[in-house]
Amino acid sequence: MNEPFIETDTLIVGAGPIGLELAVVLKAMGVSYQHIDAGQVGQTISWYPKQVRFFSSPERIAIAGVPLGTSDQEKATREQYLAYLRGIVQQFELVVHTYERVIQVVKNDPGFAVHTRRGSEQRLYHAKHVVMAVGDLHHPQKLGIPGEDLSHVNHYFDEPHQYFGQQLLIVGGRNSAVETAIRCSRAGAHVTLSYRRSEFDDTSVKYWLLPEILSLIKSGQITYLPNTTPTRVCDTHVRLARTGADGQVIAASDPACGDPIDVPANFVLLMTGYRMDTSLLEDSGVELVGENQGPKLDTDTMMTNVPGLYVAGTAAAGTQKNFRLFIENCHQHVSKIVKSITGQRPPAGMVNDAATKYDLPES
Ligand code: NAP
Repeated sequence: MNEPFIETDTLIVGAGPIGLELAVVLKAMGVSYQHIDAGQVGQTISWYPKQVRFFSSPERIAIAGVPLGTSDQEKATREQYLAYLRGIVQQFELVVHTYERVIQVVKNDPGFAVHTRRGSEQRLYHAKHVVMAVGDLHHPQKLGIPGEDLSHVNHYFDEPHQYFGQQLLIVGGRNSAVETAIRCSRAGAHVTLSYRRSEFDDTSVKYWLLPEILSLIKSGQITYLPNTTPTRVCDTHVRLARTGADGQVIAASDPACGDPIDVPANFVLLMTGYRMDTSLLEDSGVELVGENQGPKLDTDTMMTNVPGLYVAGTAAAGTQKNFRLFIENCHQHVSKIVKSITGQRPPAGMVNDAATKYDLPES
């Protein structure tokens, strides 16, 4: 007996902003589609720290022609943007199969057989096209040191209050580490910041965060330990080794190595970045290329080397060593994919073409 299945033209995997923007457009154009997310709508954004503000201005991360207003005209917070995404789903009456995980995508000419699981229930979809809009921040970049899995160590910063009056060691030297150090210090934590380089890179740290962190370090409110990296986390302290200009631990045989430094810490935040889970793409036959191990694709259509399988959003970049692809410059993926699937452009104003619309003319 044949397994029952759901037939559709396009299956969208991932209900972040770009996946949702694509769903709105396909629905408006009358294209049959199904939409699945392994978690909740906006899942990646839901683990951002509480009250964190987007770096991108609201008009750049708005989707589907719906303005994103903020009550104070500032950048949107995590909470405001999640509420906005929920509103998009409600306004356009989008059906998203949340908490349903894609297990396998099998090329099954002329389309795909997509196997999913939600709890104990399994489903099978037959789709002509599959669009992976799965994001690129799936797992923390682990250091692989002893003690990294202790209960007072975390790779995610939730909110500063829990660190009030505590000895907090933060590791890293880009936006997450710097922003976390500033917020926790202001919330009364005793913050030590360990960074493997000597100085912050002003092309990697936001220009408004840099003077703030430097000022807090200068005034002694944050203890800065440059050219250090953790080698072991213990219950009461973290052992740091010295690093050279390349960020690597100096060999014990080198006179510059010096003694290890033990920093008292009852909480440790390893803000050492995140990496993409490419397993679903790889299992589907997508080739990974370049330093970031991003999907091989035609940038005119966003189609991968697997005909009919597209990638949208930041997943197109792989694990970004230097971040170049954000929500704000991924809207164009929607237009390209819609054009490739339907042969037509999305209706005017439905896709936020922010990558070009708001850029200043080159001087
Ligand atoms: P990131 O930019 O990848 O930075 C990771 C940091 O960890 C770097 O300083 C890196 O050192 C250090 N590191 C990596 N591996 C290490 C190791 N093995 N040992 C010691 N140090 C190590 O990650 P992120 O700061 O979490 O930022 C991720 C993305 O989120 C970026 O796009 C960022 O702009 C964004 N973000 C947005 C907001 C916001 O919207 N408010 C806030 C924070 C972050 P090196 O510098 O030497 O490579």
